[in-house]
Amino acid sequence: MYYIAEVNKDICSQSNCHLCTTYCPEANCINYSEADKSAYVSVDRCKACEICVYICKEVAKKEAIQMKWIDDLEEGFVIKRTGVVLR
Ligand code: SF4
Ligand code: SF4
Repeated sequence: MYYIAEVNKDICSQSNCHLCTTYCPEANCINYSEADKSAYVSVDRCKACEICVYICKEVAKKEAIQMKWIDDLEEGFVIKRTGVVLR
């Protein structure tokens, strides 16, 4: 497998910028949850391009996103649309 972008919700929720969701080149890959007040990544769609990491760090000035080895994701490998969870 490979690296995936992961959002730190505690850091992201201090902002409300949605910038990463605008710049991610993959459709429906990184979205914003109004319930969590945070962006989140759909693991099965992330192509590890790291554009969101750059945007969050250099444009939003937040550093809420880091790349993680897929086995080390905090919430495991969750495919939200189908409910499949691999831990
Ligand atoms: S750019 Fe960073 S702070 Fe802004 S919504 Fe995305 S993860 Fe959150
Ligand atoms: S690493 Fe690339 S594909 Fe993955 S969420 Fe960030 S911008 Fe989207």
